[in-house]
Amino acid sequence: MSRLFRRINKGTASTRLIPQKMLRTRSFAVRTSVLFPMRTFFDTMQCSLTHTLLLMSLLVVGSIAYDTIETPLARRENVLGGSAPFFAYAAGFFCPVQMVGVVGADWLPEYTEMFRKQGVDTSGIEIVPDGKTFRWSGKYHNNMNDRDTLDTQLNVLGTFQPKLPENFRRAQFVFLANGAPSTGLAALDQIQGADLVVADTMNLWINTTRSDLDALMKRIDGLVINDSEAKLLTDDINTVTAGRKILAMGPKFVIVKKGEHGAMFVSEYETYVVPAFPVENVVDPTGAGDSFAGGLMGYIASQQGNLDGETIKNALVYGTIVASFGIEGFSFDRYKEISRSDIEERREAFRKMTSF
Ligand code: AMP
Repeated sequence: MSRLFRRINKGTASTRLIPQKMLRTRSFAVRTSVLFPMRTFFDTMQCSLTHTLLLMSLLVVGSIAYDTIETPLARRENVLGGSAPFFAYAAGFFCPVQMVGVVGADWLPEYTEMFRKQGVDTSGIEIVPDGKTFRWSGKYHNNMNDRDTLDTQLNVLGTFQPKLPENFRRAQFVFLANGAPSTGLAALDQIQGADLVVADTMNLWINTTRSDLDALMKRIDGLVINDSEAKLLTDDINTVTAGRKILAMGPKFVIVKKGEHGAMFVSEYETYVVPAFPVENVVDPTGAGDSFAGGLMGYIASQQGNLDGETIKNALVYGTIVASFGIEGFSFDRYKEISRSDIEERREAFRKMTSF
């Protein structure tokens, strides 16, 4: 930790900061944001619009899927899913997003249009003309929290080698959504020094591609992971100590998702917790984790990466609120009905519920 950072980090809990070393070095603005409040920085530097837009580039690489979902009440076949679409749509409520993934000839142009309307640049989606899009099928238990994977057909995802368009390679914020760790590593090789790289992972990759995952962990700033997967990764049944063990593997922070019990942020310096928004009508929880990450990263990017404690806490709340809408419908059904003002309204209700 730099001496300057250590001095600033002595502030109150709300102004205490993530260690400077967690941020990469390309962007002067983001490094500066760790040292000064961003508004002061912009007021002083009178940052240009172009620069502001550059600061907000948020890239996601992940799976794009057709899901078949069974819940205790209903079943839907071949609906749009995948880690990248849920992330991108959720982040699109906050900032422009660049999406990278692969689909087959069965990809429907209406989805490209849906993402375009949400501010998502889909030029990084590769369409394999003679291939089939990744298929995933899951069945939820009665508690609507636990689920079993019934079927996974990798199809075009199995041989996916991400090729980032030239203008995606300078992204400042990068999210490596659930997918093979080797895909994340290949994407990072093409990105010229992003400032904040966060990844998600799951039991499949922890169990089958551990050495790739270990290599990826050393190249990311943050990991977003389910509580059960955090325990699997660390062999530790306590979420907090599991979080600390993950920090020792490379990331500077970890966000543990606990489904209906909320989420927890852990860094060497701070621990923050956020409950889940109480949703009465849970229809389909698929994609909640990816949407949570999308809301979180989208908000951070919209704040030009100013990673002080308040921004991180707000980002956790926005991630929670966005995800709470998604689970009220299958696939993207509920998202298509809402706008940023609905998110703000629910955020205010959440504030009243949680302030004490
Ligand atoms: P979540 O509910 O946030 O865990 O995300 C569920 C989404 O992840 C579904 O839409 C699936 O298509 C996708 N998914 C399931 N298994 C995998 C996998 N092995 N790799 C990448 N994405 C997956």
